[in-house]
Amino acid sequence: MNKIEKIYKLLFEKFREQNWWPTITSNKKFEIILGTILTQNTSWSNVEKTIKTLNLVWLISPIELKKIPEKHLAELIRSSGYYNQKAKKIKAVVEFLDSGKELTRENLLNVWGIGPETADSILLYAYEQPVFVIDAYTKRIMKRFGFKQKSYEEFQKLFHKSLKKDHKLFNEYHALFVKLGKENCRTKPLCNSCPLTDICTKNIKPSLDGNQ
Ligand code: SF4
Repeated sequence: MNKIEKIYKLLFEKFREQNWWPTITSNKKFEIILGTILTQNTSWSNVEKTIKTLNLVWLISPIELKKIPEKHLAELIRSSGYYNQKAKKIKAVVEFLDSGKELTRENLLNVWGIGPETADSILLYAYEQPVFVIDAYTKRIMKRFGFKQKSYEEFQKLFHKSLKKDHKLFNEYHALFVKLGKENCRTKPLCNSCPLTDICTKNIKPSLDGNQ
């Protein structure tokens, strides 16, 4: 078992299934796509608030979102922050979905405001493609493990070559990293209670959580 697999095993043993991506409406796929944009630079609770608001006015729908003026949409998604930009991004994604273009990573990256993390989240969570999502939590944890990768693509390659290409595994792994990043591997890590403490190469363990 390689180190990347070992990390997953320990995280899963401790935290179990995370049931990501959490959705509340029947249009799961489109709700996930909206969520990947709304979640940028804000908390998940704000995203949930916004999704509920959009659901109340029947806007978890690309057809309906296409009709609504961008300014009106911005007002409706205010609770997610950066609402003018996010409204523009949502409009751009809706236009892309309506264009009939093939849903590939390359095409998604050509949509206004869609970067690698958002594109990969759409592919993985909405379309169940085996694409590993790299976020700030993932980078922080891997750096503390001593991995030297720097760019998004370098980190992604590491996961792609170390794991079986399985969207369910990638889905769960990313969700577990988010959980670990919130519970233990915070800006100031709580290594004592971390499920990875025995294999983490970081020598900061004895001092940073102040309990050892
Ligand atoms: S042992 Fe500490 S530094 Fe290593 S992953 Fe856990 S919380 Fe992060």
